[in-house]
Amino acid sequence: MGCSLAYYLARAGRRVVVIDRGRIGQGATAACAGGVRAQFSTEVNIRIGMEAKRVLANFVEETGQTADFRQVGYLFLLTTDDERRRFADNVRLQRRLGMEDVVELTPADARDMVPGLRTDDLCGATFCPSDGLAGPNEVTYGYANAARRLGAVIRENTPLDGFITAGGTVRGIRTGASEIACADTVICAGPWSAPVGTMLDLAVPIEPSPRQVFVTEPFDGIGRRSPMTIDFHTSFYFHPEGEGVLFGMSDPATPPGDDTSVDWPFLDRITAVAERRWPPLLDARVKSAWAGLYENTPDFQPLVGPLEPGLWIAAGFSGHGFMMAPVIGRWLAAWMSDGAPTAELRAFAPDRFAAGGLQPERNVI
Ligand SMILES: Cc1cc2nc3c(=O)[nH]c(=O)nc-3n(C[C@H](O)[C@H](O)[C@H](O)COP(=O)(O)OP(=O)(O)OC[C@H]3O[C@@H](n4cnc5c(N)ncnc54)[C@H](O)[C@@H]3O)c2cc1C
Repeated sequence: MGCSLAYYLARAGRRVVVIDRGRIGQGATAACAGGVRAQFSTEVNIRIGMEAKRVLANFVEETGQTADFRQVGYLFLLTTDDERRRFADNVRLQRRLGMEDVVELTPADARDMVPGLRTDDLCGATFCPSDGLAGPNEVTYGYANAARRLGAVIRENTPLDGFITAGGTVRGIRTGASEIACADTVICAGPWSAPVGTMLDLAVPIEPSPRQVFVTEPFDGIGRRSPMTIDFHTSFYFHPEGEGVLFGMSDPATPPGDDTSVDWPFLDRITAVAERRWPPLLDARVKSAWAGLYENTPDFQPLVGPLEPGLWIAAGFSGHGFMMAPVIGRWLAAWMSDGAPTAELRAFAPDRFAAGGLQPERNVI
């Protein structure tokens, strides 16, 4: 998010410094599954997903580097009548907003698309062929390098020590021995944004939540163009990754926290779900695993906008920040340069929780 925003701000003529306490792209982004979709339940997220696909499809023209964007589609498998009704409503909304290629499928259609899928208990599915997968590393460095070419400075291994304030306005930041004065400071600290807010006694409602990811050795039981397949009821998902398969699942029993150690016993629980939904996975051998952090807000929508005079935030993407970065970076840079927010960004106002009237995103994996 920080690299995307830096690029669009630099393109708008702003002088930009990005600081990261580690290496860029090694936070939540490094753990990400790379999914890019517009199959959301809220209008704003559908619009962002559609725009993100356009930007990523033209990423070489934009930044000079590939996004490794593979439009293999997203297939959602639906088990209950309630899920099918809700997804049918979503498809109607998505089509009204211009997503002409999203369709409802029968369980048999889904089985034809993903050999080995067990569909006897499913009542429907949805599919959008232009959704897909992109490379988190490629996109992060694509933006970072393009931003640098426009004059942005990226300082790695530079932890934030605190903010410089005067008269209730944030005037810059302190890192180690140095101070950086700036008219605008933006918190893009992903799952660690709440501790950054605490430095100014601000309560930032973002909770880190661990997620486990497993990758197999080369496996010919899945086609290289097989879609990102999501069993919505259990949140078990899988997609081709290199010569193997990447898979994962959310665990509602995991408490919030920032523990990123691999939970190997959890693999048994995913395997039990895979046995019911996609038994071929049991023939693949797990090669590697990692855990990363979602950055959840109470309504699973991000915080994007001003927090205090001189201070902004773009964080709390609740598991969708990779695909949202190309669009949020551009919209927020335009807001910071022109002084007026894109209408869509009002849905992400950081102070919305006090005002009420939330529109939670329901298609969260
Ligand atoms: C397992 C998993 C799968 C996911 N799959 C998808 C997916 O398929 N599609 C999708 O769109 N999203 C996905 N996500 C979510 C996505 O990874 C995040 O929403 C996104 O990467 C957030 O980007 P970010 O730049 O806001 O945060 P980060 O990538 O975490 O970057 C924040 C940066 O802030 C730095 N930082 C933090 N604190 C400080 C400090 N005090 N001083 C200096 N620097 C600091 C960190 O070092 C880090 O580099 C997934 C996440 C996980 C964990």
